[in-house]
Formats: sequence, C-alpha cells, structure tokens
Amino acid sequence: MDITISSGNQLCDNKPIVIFGAGDYGIKTWSNLRMYECIVAYFMDNNPDKIGTTICGIKVISLEDRKGGWQYIISSKYHWRDILAELLEVGIKEEDISIYFSTDAIVSLCNNKKETLFDVLERQKVPNSRMRFDYHIVEHCNLNCKGCLHFSNIASEEYADIDVYKNNIIQMFKIFGTRVEHISLLGGEPLLHPRLNEFICLTRRIFKNAEIELITNGLLLKKMDEVFWNTLLQADVELTVTHYPKSNIKYKDIIDIIEKHKCKYSLNRVNGNEWCKLKLNLKGDSIAYRSFAECPMANTCITLDKKGHLYTCAPAAHIHHFFKKYHISFLYSKNDYIDIFEETNPEVIFQKLALPKPICRYCKEGTIEDANGWAKSKSSIEEWT
Ligand code: SF4
Ligand code: SF4
Repeated sequence: MDITISSGNQLCDNKPIVIFGAGDYGIKTWSNLRMYECIVAYFMDNNPDKIGTTICGIKVISLEDRKGGWQYIISSKYHWRDILAELLEVGIKEEDISIYFSTDAIVSLCNNKKETLFDVLERQKVPNSRMRFDYHIVEHCNLNCKGCLHFSNIASEEYADIDVYKNNIIQMFKIFGTRVEHISLLGGEPLLHPRLNEFICLTRRIFKNAEIELITNGLLLKKMDEVFWNTLLQADVELTVTHYPKSNIKYKDIIDIIEKHKCKYSLNRVNGNEWCKLKLNLKGDSIAYRSFAECPMANTCITLDKKGHLYTCAPAAHIHHFFKKYHISFLYSKNDYIDIFEETNPEVIFQKLALPKPICRYCKEGTIEDANGWAKSKSSIEEWT
C-alpha cells in the first residue's frame, strides 16, 4: 500500500488539501501545514454540527462533498484507523491519503520520511486496557550498578514524600479505579526509605484488589524488622528480589530470610552475562518514533513520578538525574508525559502512553544493547552512551 505518513512539506504538491478532522487536532495540523506554506482547501468531518461552518476561515465539508484529485490528510490521533477505512470504502485512492501526526513528538522528528502504512502500523504500540505502574519510593540506591536504567546510581539522595504519594495514587484510583491491576514500589532501593511501611499500607488501603510488588536488590533485607515483614504479609505484597550475577550478593541468605518470614517472593534473575545498556543519543536527534517503536520499555514500564506525571517508560521518568549529573541542559516537553491532574480520561491516557514521546529522540534506535555483564558503576557517562 502506498498510504504515507508525512510531515508537511511533502504534502505541498498541486492537489488541494483536505484535512479530515475539524477538531483541535485538525487545527494543529492546519497550523503546522501553514508553517510549510501548504494551503488547506477544506476541513472535512463527520459531525453534522460542524459541516457548513468555517474553522480558521476554512469551510468544513462532509465526506459526500468529496471530489477526485484531492489529497486527504487524516488528522485524528486516536481514530485514524476508522477514518482511513471510511475513506478507502468510498473509493478514495490510497495514494491520495496521508496520516498526519502533528504533535511535536512526531512532526519535528520524522524528517519528512515517507513510509508505507505497514511501517506505520508496525510502529504503533497497542494501548493497554489495564494500568500497571511503577513509583520510585527512593531515587538513590545502595548498589551501584553500571548504567542503571533508572539512573539511581548517579541520583542524589532523595526520598518520596508520603503525602505527595497519597495525592498521586488517590488521583490514579479516581481515574482508573479497579483497572489498576499492578503497582510496583521501587527505586533506587526502596528499603532505604524510613517510612516504607506507610507507603505499603497506604497503597493497599487505596488499591484493595491490585497486585502490589516491592522490588529490591535485597541487600537490606537482613536488617528489616518484624513490623516490616508483618506489613508485607498483611498487605499481601510480593517481594521481587533482582538477582545480579557477579555481584557477590549472597542470594541464598536473602532467600532464607524471606522464606523464614513466609512472604510471597520471586527472584528476578539477570542471567549470566545478560545486562542491558541504554543507548542514549546526547545530540537528541534520533527519530523519536523509530526509537519508540523498537523500544522494549515503551508502554511497558509505565512510571508515575512525584509531580503526578505519567511516563511511558522508566528511563524517560528518571533521565533528569543523568542530565543533572553530567551538566547537560535539558527540559522536558509537556508531551513527554501525561499530567494525571489535567488529563483524567483513562482511554486518552492509555492512547497517549502508546505513542512516541519527544524525549525518545534521546534514545538511539534499538534503545538497549548487551552491556557484557553486570559490573559496578564508575559513574562514567559512557555507561549510557
Ligand atoms: S540495584 Fe537496581 S536501582 Fe540500584 S543501581 Fe542497581 S539497577 Fe539501579
Ligand atoms: S524514552 Fe527511550 S526508553 Fe523511553 S520509550 Fe522512548 S525510546 Fe524507549
């Protein structure tokens, strides 16, 4: 199929341009096209209330008003598949249809690359229908791993605030309710937090039926008191101990302690020489949606931060530690995350999490590579580049 995803200036040939979608997103598309000096002939929409009106001085027409020889730009982030099917069904030629993603997550980064629809579909992550999220209880860590994907080995000492956490997870419950199926409390090393038990109890109080997991490197388990172990049991929390080969940690002792306390647990083994390295591109000029498409963390390790910002992956949520450590100037774009106090529609949030983010331009395509086994960090920038 020859349907294309394009940025503006490829669309400036001689055919009249029609933007399908006369909503906010269509207006953004129109304004982006103006930057490329493309003239839009009409907006098109299925909503009878919009047909016949004008938007930005341009008439809104219906699909019935279509003519041959026009070029159609689908401008709907969430319904583009349906619109595409509709246009094809009424006989509009594939080569006359484009799908235009106008957010700065994509338009500024796709470098005018024409791709087949197949490529576009390949890149789409399927939106989740249930919510699983991570929350950093502690930013720093007592185990200094090379190239930590959460940048905890180079993070300054910082502990999550329980009241802030409470506000954030109440909001998550308001939005997703029982669709939250799994919460991971982690870090950094969460056992460093002096009020860890309160975080656990609070999480269980709000999310009565969700799975709650506490992820730890296990080093501090032998120092934890009985209150901690009882809290885990009563709150029905599963302990996940990450197993680092070559780290000389005595996992047998750790497991003995957990089993003695009859806690649910699992050992998350990093086998043999397996150890991943995040491949950052400090110039920030990767094609964001390509990095995203191939990224195993995208839309998978969804992370909520203390500001109530929800990120599609852990590195995006914590990369500020990296930029701070190495004095690299960096600012998040508002499109890098979803603010759960501004966007409260769960379907929209799921959809947004499944789309590339501007920050993905800092990851090389492929995102992670083999790092030749676990080792102690030397806090060198090469651990991520
Ligand atoms: S134990 Fe985990 S959080 Fe801590 S430095 Fe290692 S990888 Fe990072
Ligand atoms: S920021 Fe990097 S790690 Fe996160 S989803 Fe994008 S490509 Fe993947």
